[in-house]
Amino acid sequence: WKRTHYSQELDEDMDGETVTLMGWVHEIRDLGGIIFVLLRDRNGITQITAPSKKITPELMEEIRKFKKESVIAVKGTIQGSPKAPGGVEVIPEEVKVLNESKQPLPLDPTEKVRAEIDTRLDSRYLDLRKHSISAIFKIKSTMLHSVRIFLEEKGFMEVNTPKLVGSATEGGTELFPITYFEREAFLGQSPQLYKQMMMATGLDKVFEIAPIFRAEEHDTLRHLNEVISIDAELAFADQEEAMELLEKLVHHAIKEVKENCQAELEDLGVELEVPELPFPRLEYDEVIDIVNSKGVQLQHGEDLSRAAEKALGEVMDGYYFITNWPSEIKPFYVQPHEDEPEKSYAFDLMYRDLEISSGATRVHQHDLLVKQIKSKGLNPDSFQRYLAAFEYGMPPHAGWGLGAERFTMCITGMKNIRETVLFPRDRRRLTP
Ligand code: ATP
Ligand code: MG
Ligand code: MG
Ligand code: MG
Repeated sequence: WKRTHYSQELDEDMDGETVTLMGWVHEIRDLGGIIFVLLRDRNGITQITAPSKKITPELMEEIRKFKKESVIAVKGTIQGSPKAPGGVEVIPEEVKVLNESKQPLPLDPTEKVRAEIDTRLDSRYLDLRKHSISAIFKIKSTMLHSVRIFLEEKGFMEVNTPKLVGSATEGGTELFPITYFEREAFLGQSPQLYKQMMMATGLDKVFEIAPIFRAEEHDTLRHLNEVISIDAELAFADQEEAMELLEKLVHHAIKEVKENCQAELEDLGVELEVPELPFPRLEYDEVIDIVNSKGVQLQHGEDLSRAAEKALGEVMDGYYFITNWPSEIKPFYVQPHEDEPEKSYAFDLMYRDLEISSGATRVHQHDLLVKQIKSKGLNPDSFQRYLAAFEYGMPPHAGWGLGAERFTMCITGMKNIRETVLFPRDRRRLTP
């Protein structure tokens, strides 16, 4: 037995041809004299029509015993049939059950019965048999692929940095401590310090697509404990160049998804719009005014609360940057304005009420970096190896980190970040 076609490759022009399909029993309808089986494979669904007039009683009995979600192979002849999905049906000549599914199913992949997200995640393999769910991951994969191509074409090199780290990137919170032989270590919460050390190598433009781990205390619809971060860092560049790179990348990825994932977007009912460039830029101070005008309290020097993000999302419809953040709420490696050090060259990229990226011009001056580490209440001694890279010729540089799942949420219209991860990790979930 060898599969010859996928469902989507069949059409009326193939009338009379013999094909072998392999997939799952999506539905079975037994009307006595005729049995209809819907066979589902990666791309689509084919109707297998078994009329007792045309096929042997033995074959009829075999088909009658099919169970929902069993894996089957069907060899048969194609027949044009305007009423069947895809305009064709297959009249079976030989069938084989490759593996029988247990009954009842924990979850119905035909989408007739809506299941709770926890039930779905527990049986994710069944959940992913729904084309409307696998569509999300096809889109995420296309997005990631287009990001790689885009950055490589812009002269960036893909790198891999450690996820087992000896010290915290930005301080103690949100860190997962682990046992590393006889010492304590942590799961990396960001490749930030390694990306910056790469700027002292002459490689100039690097990116990494890898997991980051954050011990998020609260269950929200946009935080997970393990996510994929798309990180880029550019030498001899500032915030402006970093922002331009980021908005072009977002634009490019959305265009690629729109062109290459039409069926998937349709499965999701999403009308994807390619955003216009450049994205609007709001200053932090303007954001405060907007948020306050919506009746939500936001003091200067505060990070955006959820209520503030929502108020902002009511006014700002698409993608936009927030610039000129107060230095006090941005990390130590962010460059302050020369004349007004309480302001920083930091930016966030937002989509409506969702932060999808943070970036900045970085501090490249050793002494300023030490000063800022101290002023954040951290100990420069624990950053010794990182700091040394700033003493032997560190060029000015800038960069950003873009959350792959947050970006996938924007493209697919998903409201819960869990929908965009195969096996999400949150406070309550560590399996499967
Ligand atoms: P937030 O304010 O939403 O908690 P953050 O400012 O803490 O995000 P950064 O440290 O700026 O996040 O990380 C860069 C990007 O990584 C974020 O803009 C977001 O897209 C993504 N990200 C960070 N933490 C998480 C998380 N826990 N779950 C999902 N995505 C995350
Ligand atoms: Mg956070
Ligand atoms: Mg933030
Ligand atoms: Mg941020």
